[in-house]
Amino acid sequence: MKTATIKGGIEFKVERVGGAIETLPVPSKVVLPLKQHKGTACKAVVKKGQEVKVGELIGDGEVPIHATVAGKVTEVTKRFPDIRGGYIPAIGIEVQGDAWDEDGSDLDPTSLSSNQALETIKKAGLVDYNIDAEPLAEKINFAKTKGVKTLVINGVDLEPGVGICKQLLVEKRQEIVGGIKVLKNVLNITNAYLAIESTSAQVQATIEGAVSGVAELVVTSPKYPVGLPKFLVKAITGKEVPSPHGRPEDVGVVVIGLETAISVWDALKTNRPPIDKAITVYGAVNNPKNLRVRIGTPLKHVLEYCGVSAEIGKVIVGGPMMGLAQYSLDIPVTKEVNAIFIQRESELTEISGQKCINCGWCVKVCPMRLLPHIISSYCEVGMFEEAESYNLSYCVECGCCAYVCPAKIPLVHWIKYGKSQIKREER
Ligand code: SF4
Ligand code: SF4
Repeated sequence: MKTATIKGGIEFKVERVGGAIETLPVPSKVVLPLKQHKGTACKAVVKKGQEVKVGELIGDGEVPIHATVAGKVTEVTKRFPDIRGGYIPAIGIEVQGDAWDEDGSDLDPTSLSSNQALETIKKAGLVDYNIDAEPLAEKINFAKTKGVKTLVINGVDLEPGVGICKQLLVEKRQEIVGGIKVLKNVLNITNAYLAIESTSAQVQATIEGAVSGVAELVVTSPKYPVGLPKFLVKAITGKEVPSPHGRPEDVGVVVIGLETAISVWDALKTNRPPIDKAITVYGAVNNPKNLRVRIGTPLKHVLEYCGVSAEIGKVIVGGPMMGLAQYSLDIPVTKEVNAIFIQRESELTEISGQKCINCGWCVKVCPMRLLPHIISSYCEVGMFEEAESYNLSYCVECGCCAYVCPAKIPLVHWIKYGKSQIKREER
């Protein structure tokens, strides 16, 4: 067993949401965006009024979209609010049942050839739930072309409070081990690690025993943002992923999410696409929970189930550090979602207008060893080249600097603004 940590970062004292992953009742209507991954949107292949079954192809493209319920298509729209802002095409389905389109199978995924497995991964529309929802087949092919020799399964819940990986490690051990075996086979590599956050010695020993001979267990310190692939790679292999635009594959490593490994196993075993997603719902809710949610379920349905107070200030998809605030609760849970965090009105951070007091806290916590106060102040006054000379583009937007700033300066806001302006100028 290896241990791993990062320089900088923050050790939050927040407990991760625990408890078995409950299945959320299916809502009366689901909305399935035709883009739930990094890349271009799929094309709708169903029409309004058409009846569909669970698992039926409804959007075709680089990462196909399947119906997650049986029912009637009520809308095929080009403009539905997107989690990332703006609009995307989407398909609405009124739920009428749960009948599958095709009979499932009970295959042994380890008996499939690398090409057969890759073909099913593509057909099932799998993405890497780890970060950015990258198309999984594409990611695997890229790793192969780069001659990657090491697989890291990321079982570290990135954001404070999120408890999905921790719970999956208890509930889905067999599928995790199976998924790692299959991924090693598809990637044609022998070297694999399973990274988890430190937990009780007994739980660690059980997981270590389960993956023995398949992957080496790595236990990370409970320090945010050690779960970001760039930092995991450095902490485990000592290799530096090149900044600003390098990928783990550039240094011979591919990082794949824990839930992704499970979905690979399930899809190959059943020859069916995934229809639900595990998420943590927490913050200002009466009952914080780990839930298994049908993909396409509107956020409001999830929040009602967990009991939200009347004075919601902000609904964030993801966690408090890197999540995205939502302006519509009609937005559904997609393959990109792993948590919903609710803030009360009274918890919203007010921007003070106070000046930097040069305390250096932001520098101390920055895991990229940047000078956030200098970069952000250049961005604030439009001096983007000067900000870049301090490696503005190296920032991973983890939010540690803004979190600790006693002057409540919106450092990440200014940094993101600076990056977007540079991109605009480059176009
Ligand atoms: S958001 Fe950027 S500048 Fe701030 S701590 Fe994270 S990496 Fe450093
Ligand atoms: S933490 Fe805030 S006040 Fe302190 S140096 Fe950084 S920007 Fe300035």
